[in-house]
Amino acid sequence: MPTIPKRGTPKPWIVKRKPTFKGNEGPDADFYNSRTWRTLRKYVLSGEPLCRSCGVPAQVVDHIRPISQGGAKLDIENLQPLCSRCHNKKSSKEGREKMRESHDEENE
Ligand SMILES: [Zn+2]
Repeated sequence: MPTIPKRGTPKPWIVKRKPTFKGNEGPDADFYNSRTWRTLRKYVLSGEPLCRSCGVPAQVVDHIRPISQGGAKLDIENLQPLCSRCHNKKSSKEGREKMRESHDEENE
């Protein structure tokens, strides 16, 4: 009889799912999974449940000044609720701006 695999065995071959962010957050991935962040995020969304940009229900709490650019991680003044559409728009814009800083001559 084969032994039944133990429950809760770590599965190192399963890559941890990252939040919907791409790119530069490597070390911040843990931050987005932290309880502090989740609590703060919930707090922001409960105080302001609509996207600050377009007014539909927000799903994302965004750092107005990105952490990668020195923005405060846990400062509520640096947080805003966004819907995923506006957040994606903002992130891709930030990504492009970041690219531009390092690759000045790159064309779009
Ligand atoms: Zn929006």
